[in-house]
Amino acid sequence: MWTYLNGEFILKEHVKVSPFDRGFLFGDSVYEVIPAYNNKLFLFDEHLARLESSLSIINIPIPDFLKNLRPLIMELVKKNQFLNQAIYIQITRGVDPFRSHVASSSSSPTLFISSTELEINPYRENPMKKGLKVRLEEDIRWKRCDVKATTLLPNIIPFHREDGLNVDEILFYDEEKVCEGSKSNFFFVFDDLIMTPPKDQNILVGITRNYFLKRLQEEGFRVLEKEIKKDDLKEADEIWITSSTKEIQPVHQIDDNFLPEKEYEDCYWYKALMILEEELKGDS
Ligand code: PMP
Repeated sequence: MWTYLNGEFILKEHVKVSPFDRGFLFGDSVYEVIPAYNNKLFLFDEHLARLESSLSIINIPIPDFLKNLRPLIMELVKKNQFLNQAIYIQITRGVDPFRSHVASSSSSPTLFISSTELEINPYRENPMKKGLKVRLEEDIRWKRCDVKATTLLPNIIPFHREDGLNVDEILFYDEEKVCEGSKSNFFFVFDDLIMTPPKDQNILVGITRNYFLKRLQEEGFRVLEKEIKKDDLKEADEIWITSSTKEIQPVHQIDDNFLPEKEYEDCYWYKALMILEEELKGDS
């Protein structure tokens, strides 16, 4: 597997970053994940815009190399050969001569890009596959979850508890309000109304979330960005997650509550998945 670090394509086994990189020392870094289907980047402009937004919120000046990001990624995709890939882009504030909260004026941002084979969404091949198991967790994250920061401790810790968290995803809540997953956004269906929490600083505004919101609205479905309470979850007919690598996947269980069993053809998540599949077919 090839990677790209600061101007050079380097094999995964040989790539090295300095331990004085601020990404390593402080988690002073942001990232982006872009899917490529059939060697084509999906929603690249939207991902680039979010990366620029993350950088500007944490005051890393937009590096010049971002102008060439698309051709750089395309070269990496070609080198790594898989038809479908997930591309990870990490940008840190750079390497400092010594550890200090205040970055050295001489350091410049580190750019690291890697890719892995993108696993095909299992619900495409088998829509009857049992949905995901989710656990509710109190949101202890910071107040700028709209930044796609690499600092992900609260998203990771629950999966490493001694009692072993045997779930596919966590759904964070803040007081009574439902926020998002540890690695995905959530949608909820009540009768024929599809809802997802509104854009704010408590969630990462997912590119996949926005894609489905827009496309479902265009197709005439009733979709709303609206605050959802933890107690409302019991009334939901469907719950789904969305993300760039998972696309859209249904939830079967949240804590001890099971979602109603429905034929997959009647489910909104499946209709949304079909919209995406059609678009990807048209693109290839
Ligand atoms: N929320 C969080 C916390 C995430 O980590 C992710 C992506 N991994 C998402 C939402 C979904 O974002 P996107 O659709 O842009 O992948």
